[in-house]
Amino acid sequence: MIKEKLAAIKKNIPPNVTLVAVSKTKPNELIEEAYNSGQRIFGENKAQELKNKAEVLPKDIEWHFIGHIQRNKVKYIAPYASLIHSIDSIKLLAEVNKQGLKNNRIINCLLQFYIATEETKFGLSLEEAEELLTSSEFLNLKNIKIVGVMGMASFINNEEQLRNEFIRLKYIFTQLSNNFFKHTETFQTISMGMSGDYKIAIEEGSTMIRVGSAIFGNRN
Ligand SMILES: *Cc1c(COP(=O)(O)O)cnc(C)c1O
Repeated sequence: MIKEKLAAIKKNIPPNVTLVAVSKTKPNELIEEAYNSGQRIFGENKAQELKNKAEVLPKDIEWHFIGHIQRNKVKYIAPYASLIHSIDSIKLLAEVNKQGLKNNRIINCLLQFYIATEETKFGLSLEEAEELLTSSEFLNLKNIKIVGVMGMASFINNEEQLRNEFIRLKYIFTQLSNNFFKHTETFQTISMGMSGDYKIAIEEGSTMIRVGSAIFGNRN
């Protein structure tokens, strides 16, 4: 079942787009099923849950942290996360850096942007990101690397609006790329698109989609 769903999604996405299988709330057996079908990248949005899963599941899984995180929980994911999608403040980034240092690693991160119309969503504005990237505090962080941007579109069915939100994130990516990361080849990820909207996101430049329910079924 999971195998077929993964294959169907893979058929829809070009080779330059990375699929993150969002396994939040799902048991290890289902993750193993996806793993045995060849999937290696999984996304979680609770720190303790990522840690618990990473400790027992195969070591060649790449764990992505995709949720809002409190600073005091960064320590749980720092040994395991290969990419944190949800950086929305310099304070959070400084804590990730601190935990990266403790774990003797450089942690890849995406800046999360607010592109939706819903108040409940998190993320920076372009202006806030520019301020973050020019701050002296940022320039001193050696155990993190910013490799791109992430955004969550509105939870709606309006294709035109979704498309505009994705276009906005692509524009933000291009601005930052030109103004802050011109000589940084590793700044290349645009994480956008979920089960309901990933095809539109890819049309608008996504390089990484985060798909949960279309692989694992609905969550409770
Ligand atoms: C849950 C979640 C997803 C996956 O959502 P689906 O609609 O199940 O594909 C993607 N991104 C984030 C940030 C999430 O929290």
